[in-house]
Amino acid sequence: MVDERILEIKNYIGGDFIDSPRGDFLGVFEPATGRQFASAPLSDASDVDIAVEAARTAQPSWGALGIRERADWLERIADALEERHEEVASLESRDTGKPISLARSVDATRSVSNFRFFAEMLRSQDQEVFEMADASNFVVNKPVGVGALITPWNLPLYLLSWKIAPAIGMGNSVVCKPSELTPMTADLLMRVFDEIGLPEGVVNLVHGDGIGAGSPLVSHPGVDFVSFTGGTSTGGKVAASAAPSFKKLSLELGGKNSSIVFSDCDMQSAVSGVARAGFLNQGQVCLCGSRILVEGSIYEEFRERFVRHVEQMKVGDPSNEGTELGALISQDHLEKVLGYVELAKEEGGNILTGGSRCSPDGFEGGNWMLPTVIEGVGADSRCATEEIFGPLVTLHSFESEEEALGIANNTRYGLAGSVWTGDLERGRSFSEKMETGMVWVNSWLHRDLRAPFGGVKDSGVGREGGRWSLGFFSEAMNVCVKRD
Ligand code: NDP
Repeated sequence: MVDERILEIKNYIGGDFIDSPRGDFLGVFEPATGRQFASAPLSDASDVDIAVEAARTAQPSWGALGIRERADWLERIADALEERHEEVASLESRDTGKPISLARSVDATRSVSNFRFFAEMLRSQDQEVFEMADASNFVVNKPVGVGALITPWNLPLYLLSWKIAPAIGMGNSVVCKPSELTPMTADLLMRVFDEIGLPEGVVNLVHGDGIGAGSPLVSHPGVDFVSFTGGTSTGGKVAASAAPSFKKLSLELGGKNSSIVFSDCDMQSAVSGVARAGFLNQGQVCLCGSRILVEGSIYEEFRERFVRHVEQMKVGDPSNEGTELGALISQDHLEKVLGYVELAKEEGGNILTGGSRCSPDGFEGGNWMLPTVIEGVGADSRCATEEIFGPLVTLHSFESEEEALGIANNTRYGLAGSVWTGDLERGRSFSEKMETGMVWVNSWLHRDLRAPFGGVKDSGVGREGGRWSLGFFSEAMNVCVKRD
């Protein structure tokens, strides 16, 4: 029985908000309280069929618009979304359990800037020509066609807008499948599209779970490309489903990132920067630095200051302005992270702080855990090499650059990292030797949207960001015109 106070969201297909005809629903729960506050359609392959059909119908005329006209649409979307900034932030905070300050500064703000950034990029595209003595090669960037955009729960609107903006900007139409755990801001974005009159079928959305809706979408014969962000094991299944029909594929997957602290660092900014890298969004960011490697000569001082810093972080009501850590996404995920605390003990770890559930007043039913710092597990232990994706970091010491590099590179992942040193040249040359897609020196998550974003090894295939996104969401064609 659906409680009448529960918000009911629908699929958005061909410009209409519609339920799945079978009438099955998913409950949507607040991570902070554990209470259901919304429901979404539990779509299946038949809903996916209708959505793909709507996208196929819309694509030719959308793709035929001039690039500047599509840039204007992105700008209109940005304006309309910006007007709803506070609504986006509070809905995202409620749906994910993250602190409102983070939802405002990252999720709500960045979703708007994603649309504006790609609008600007589209406007600055020049005709690329390669001249030969007797001919000119004209590069034509055509739409790929219809895309499947699949996104995770940790940064729901931020990551969805990061895909939709360049995808439709390059003339494609899309079908989106957000995480079943966090569908609310995806629905809000569809309402924005509807409000501003984006041509119907350019963006479609089916709610549901990975097996019922995500899998048939990825393997659908009417889908030409797949852009997926999520876990590495799901990425493997997505790649296998997409491969038989040679769909263009982009995979942004998991990470196990190192923060490397050299003895010549600015200790204060390293402590706060490494703590931010470890615990932002309760450690649920693919880029989080969950293995902290500290040069032996400063290890004890760093450990003491770091633990003190972490113990002062405010965990609690996500709607409070001063809250730094909110709730974890689900009970299942909380159990998984707590399971790693037990594993760490088996692996010889010593819990320096945290390591258990907590229960802020009034939030007893939620998924809460204290920020946790562990030392004593080996650098090659499971805790130090597997993606945990929660508020849990491990500390390790090293004696030389070679040792630090060996530890940093000793995981199946290769997404990101940060290096903390007073010697910027050394920071840069050390970073270049790391087997990752991105490294920050003396900062973390300092993003320029023009720069390439993505991972190596089991962290993904391809790059997003700036021209890399525009390249993925288009097909480059060469027209060679021979002169007499
Ligand atoms: P999942 O891999 O579980 O899910 C990601 C999305 O895929 C969800 O929408 C999910 O649906 C869907 N899905 C699940 N199974 C299938 C399938 N067989 N076919 C198609 N789609 C499917 O990831 P999480 O949502 O748990 O997100 C956390 C993970 O995402 C972490 O590993 C994190 O590192 C990674 N991530 C990577 C980023 C990057 O840029 N590299 C950025 C952010 C997160 P449903 O939720 O309904 O099951």
